Amino acid sequence: MDIFGSNVFNDQVMKERLPKNVYKSLRNTIDNGLPLDPAVADVVANALKDWAIEKGATHFTHWFQPMTGITAEKHDSFISPTSDGRVIMEFSGKELIKGEPDASSFPSGGLRATFEARGYTAWDCTSPAFLKDDGGVVTLCIPTAFCSYNGEALDQKTPLLRSMEALSNQALRVLRSFGNTTANRVVSTVGPEQEYFLIDKKFFEKRLDLMLTGRTLFGAKPPKGQELEDQYFGSIKERVAAYMKELNTELWKLGILAKTQHNEVAPGQFEIAPIFASTNIATDHNQLVMDVMKKVALRHDLVCLLHEKPFAGVNGSGKHNNWSMSTNDGQNLLEPGNNPHENAQFLTFLSAVIKAVDDYADLLRASAANAGNDHRLGANEAPPAIISIFLGDQLSDIIDQLANGGAKDSKQGGTINVGVSTLPILKKDSTDRNRTSPFAFTGNKFEFRMVPSSLSISGPNIVLNTIVAEVLSQIADRLENTKDFDMELKAILKEIAVNHKRIVFDGNNYTEEWVAEAEKRGLPHIRSMVDAIPAFITEKAINLFSKHGVFSKTELHSRYEIRLEQYCKQINIEALTMINMGKRQILPAVLKYVGSLADSLIAVKNAGAGADISVQEGLLKEISGLMASMKQRLANLELVTDEANNLEGDDIFEKGKFYRDFVFTAMQSLRQDIDQLENLVDADLWPVPTYAQMLFML
Ligand code: ADP
Ligand code: MG
Repeated sequence: MDIFGSNVFNDQVMKERLPKNVYKSLRNTIDNGLPLDPAVADVVANALKDWAIEKGATHFTHWFQPMTGITAEKHDSFISPTSDGRVIMEFSGKELIKGEPDASSFPSGGLRATFEARGYTAWDCTSPAFLKDDGGVVTLCIPTAFCSYNGEALDQKTPLLRSMEALSNQALRVLRSFGNTTANRVVSTVGPEQEYFLIDKKFFEKRLDLMLTGRTLFGAKPPKGQELEDQYFGSIKERVAAYMKELNTELWKLGILAKTQHNEVAPGQFEIAPIFASTNIATDHNQLVMDVMKKVALRHDLVCLLHEKPFAGVNGSGKHNNWSMSTNDGQNLLEPGNNPHENAQFLTFLSAVIKAVDDYADLLRASAANAGNDHRLGANEAPPAIISIFLGDQLSDIIDQLANGGAKDSKQGGTINVGVSTLPILKKDSTDRNRTSPFAFTGNKFEFRMVPSSLSISGPNIVLNTIVAEVLSQIADRLENTKDFDMELKAILKEIAVNHKRIVFDGNNYTEEWVAEAEKRGLPHIRSMVDAIPAFITEKAINLFSKHGVFSKTELHSRYEIRLEQYCKQINIEALTMINMGKRQILPAVLKYVGSLADSLIAVKNAGAGADISVQEGLLKEISGLMASMKQRLANLELVTDEANNLEGDDIFEKGKFYRDFVFTAMQSLRQDIDQLENLVDADLWPVPTYAQMLFML
């Protein structure tokens, strides 16, 4: 209780340190989305500075989230010179509200020519300022939005805030038509579960691929993987527990509600989940969580890997984005209550989500795409690349009833008797869980499970907020203009149930049958990032996002460019790393082993007397064959990577396809040879740590 929020300029600190009228004015901006009174900024800035200095800060920074996927900060000290050659510590309202970092080296996707360098950061007072403590160096961080000279968003926060406003506006219209006059804002809430790997730092430092790409580009399957299912929820090792303890402490100081922690399915894999918050704060916090996770790991001689697929053959990492909507007076709009069939307002919001997900499945899929996630989606560990919704017995049944004209009852859960008299009789939920669904209703929220572990959750939530806002606006249009509310609502719910039932699937999403069934239902199955990203620039998407003021057409095109460019660059770095390691580490090691085999062969042969050299001969033959194949595949990888770099034209989509179809494929086949060699070559000569070491030596 003492450390929680100790590094945050939170409500309590504001109340203590700001004059009453200033506090009230700022709260009004934060709670009711009213414009910020400029006179307030100077006072807040001064209070912030005093607080930060007392806590040991000398510098402040506008903390923002450019399109790199990570956060950015440029530190300025509080010092300001006086005429007598000394300094005073100053921080003005102007400095709090607006920053002007040189933006030219951040991705802009053509929004700006490189000579146009100006970018602006603007204070987001809805997310509290905080202190970052990097090894005793304390910096005041001010969450900001980041835009170009022309006001176009260059970051992840601006469009997220816009999408939250869109959702609030449309949800309020629906609530008003239901007669709700008290709510004046609807906030989307998110609780992201974050998966990660830990490995010993000494292994990490010996693997260039992990250092440069975040994943192992090769590595033979270890004798033991995750098949015993003995890691999931297993007893937490002391070294890991110590890490988690320090991580929690650091997060609590930042006001992050770190709550759940456990071992995940793969060896060396773990999860942390906070208690949910408004989407904006949850997104800021998740960026901080990822940052702090990496920093704290190093203090324990560990490295935290956030890549979606650091190791082939065991599960990769994702984020489960738990999402809901609630009113400012605390009503969760996705709370079904005991008798959901009677809860017309709940059914309306539920139906809106169902229709939104069906209408814009391609956008949701695109929002969860990155190069790392291409390794996961569709493999039997993560949901397939087909978007569908799991509702569970109770709600699926109600949707069926709605499609047939009206809902008359709700299936109830009942109880479970374990059969031991001393054990309690358990109240059963109305629905079982389904771990295989990409978009599952889980009690009073939806869980979007496709999100990649390293990606900012901003993108997926921008899409979720906007598509639901759109369907709510369609519903509001009808409800506001009808004379018979009940009839109209019944018609809307029936239409949605009939037309969008196809997106609901409660079965096992990992089966081949589902892939076939989904195709029959006409659901999109988009297998790779390159094919997913163009969803952002379809006419439908441009209309949607511009209607709700979330993205302009230019902003969408810029994001399309940036995402595909990132894909190409990522694969390019992977290919170059693989070539480097192949030539400079793997081949030399294999050659050394071949040399020793040859020496042994000659020595034994020279010993005469019918010595048996069949083992040496057999091994030499096998390894030489693999080595020749490897050399050839290495040359091929070099060739296609070169070709990709020299592709004519500037069609980023074509370039992405080339990287996927030729460079990535060439890497896969090279990996096969290297992994086979690893299983043959003297362990003492193998130049990089093995999977068994990295996954099990913690
Ligand atoms: P599980 O692993 O069973 O899916 P967890 O407890 O790990 O569940 O995570 C569930 C997440 O959902 C938590 O972050 C929790 O705070 C969040 N959550 C709960 N209610 C809501 C809500 N109304 N809106 C958004 N997130 C929510
Ligand atoms: Mg979950």
